[in-house]
Amino acid sequence: MAKDRLDISLESWLVSAGRPSEPGAPLNVPLIPASNFIIGGGREYSRDDGTPTWEALEEIVGGLESGQAVAFASGMAAIAAVFDQLDTGSVVALPDDCYQGVAGLAEGGAKKGRWSVERVGVDDTAGWIRACASADLVWLESPSNPLLTVADLHAICSAPRKQGTLVAVDSTLATPLNQRPLEMGASVSVQSATKFIGGHSDLLAGVASTRDPALLKALRHSRELTGATPGTLEAFLAVRGSRTLALRLERAQRTAMTLAQRLLAHPQVSVVRYPGLPGHPTHAVASRVLAGFGTMISFDLRGDARFADRVCRSTRIIRHATSLGAVESTMERRAAVPGQEHLPPSLLRLSVGIEDVEDLWRDLDEAIRLAAG
Ligand SMILES: *Cc1c(COP(=O)(O)O)cnc(C)c1O
Repeated sequence: MAKDRLDISLESWLVSAGRPSEPGAPLNVPLIPASNFIIGGGREYSRDDGTPTWEALEEIVGGLESGQAVAFASGMAAIAAVFDQLDTGSVVALPDDCYQGVAGLAEGGAKKGRWSVERVGVDDTAGWIRACASADLVWLESPSNPLLTVADLHAICSAPRKQGTLVAVDSTLATPLNQRPLEMGASVSVQSATKFIGGHSDLLAGVASTRDPALLKALRHSRELTGATPGTLEAFLAVRGSRTLALRLERAQRTAMTLAQRLLAHPQVSVVRYPGLPGHPTHAVASRVLAGFGTMISFDLRGDARFADRVCRSTRIIRHATSLGAVESTMERRAAVPGQEHLPPSLLRLSVGIEDVEDLWRDLDEAIRLAAG
C-alpha cells in the first residue's frame, strides 16, 4: 500500500490509498468479516488489533488529515473516545453552536461531575485563545452546524496551551479536502464518516486522526475497551464512498454557491447563511481557513414554522431528511430537532448533493411558491 501522501495530491491519494499491492491480490481491500485470526500473524482479535478493512479506511483518512487515523463505529463514538481521555475535574470549552450529540455528551458528563463545561462563541477567537491556556479540552466544531460560522483555526490551534491541553476539531462539515486541522496545530481532528466520506447515507462510521503517538495509542485503547469498533461492511462502504469524495465535493459546493446566491435574492427568504457569500459574518475567516466553502446552506424563510414545514414537504428532488454530505440533497427545519429549539423557527438547513443545479433550484423555488399558497 502507498503509505506516504506527501508526493501526491489529496485527490489522487483518495483514489490510490488503502489498496493491497501483492501480486494476485484484489484491487480493493475485501470485506473481511473477522473477529479472530490464526495466532502467530500479529493479529489475533479484531477489537484489539483491527482488520485490514478498517485499516484501509484509516490509511485513506489518516493520509488526508496528515496524521494517523483510528476508525470508529460512528462520529459520536470517535468523539466519545476523545472525551474518554479527560481526567475527572477537567474543564471543557465547547462552542455555543455545537452538534447536539456532542453538547448532550458534554452536558451529561458535567451533570455527573466528570468535568465542567464552558461555552465559547464559534467566532470569539480571543475566547478560544484564552480557553487554550485554561481548559483541558478545547472542542471546536467548524464550520458550525447549522449556523455555518467558521472559527479562526489558524489562530486558535497555534495559540499557547496549558500543559496537556487537547485541542480537538470536529471538521466534518469541511471534510479533510477543505480543512486539515492537524496541519494548523490541532491535537486531533474528527470526522463523522457517516457524512461526506461515506457520502451515500448508507452507513455510520467515524474517524479520529492525530499526529501524537501517545494520543493515537490512547484512542485505539479507548476503542478496544469501549468496543466502539467500526462495522466491517460500514468500513468497506466508507472506503468505497471515499474514492469519489473530491468529485462529489467539488460539484456540490459549486452548486451550493449558486443556490446560496439565488436564495439571497428570493423574496420569501430573509436570511441566507453560506460561508462563501461576501455578506456572511465569517466570510473573511472562511476565505483564509477553508479551501472550499462547502455544501451546507442554512436559510430563514419569511414565515412561520408551519410554512417552513410545508416547504420541506413540497420538494420533489430534495429529500425531507436529516443528515448531510451525501450524493442526494436533503433539507430539514432545524428548530424541530430536539435540543435545537433555540434556532429561528423557519430556519431550513439544506445539504446540497450532486444533482443538476437547475433542477435543484426549480425544486426549491417551486416548493416555496407552493407552500406560500
Ligand atoms: C453527524 C455529525 C456528528 C455525529 O456523527 P455520527 O456519525 O452521526 O455519530 C458529529 N459532528 C457533526 C458535525 C456531525 O454532522
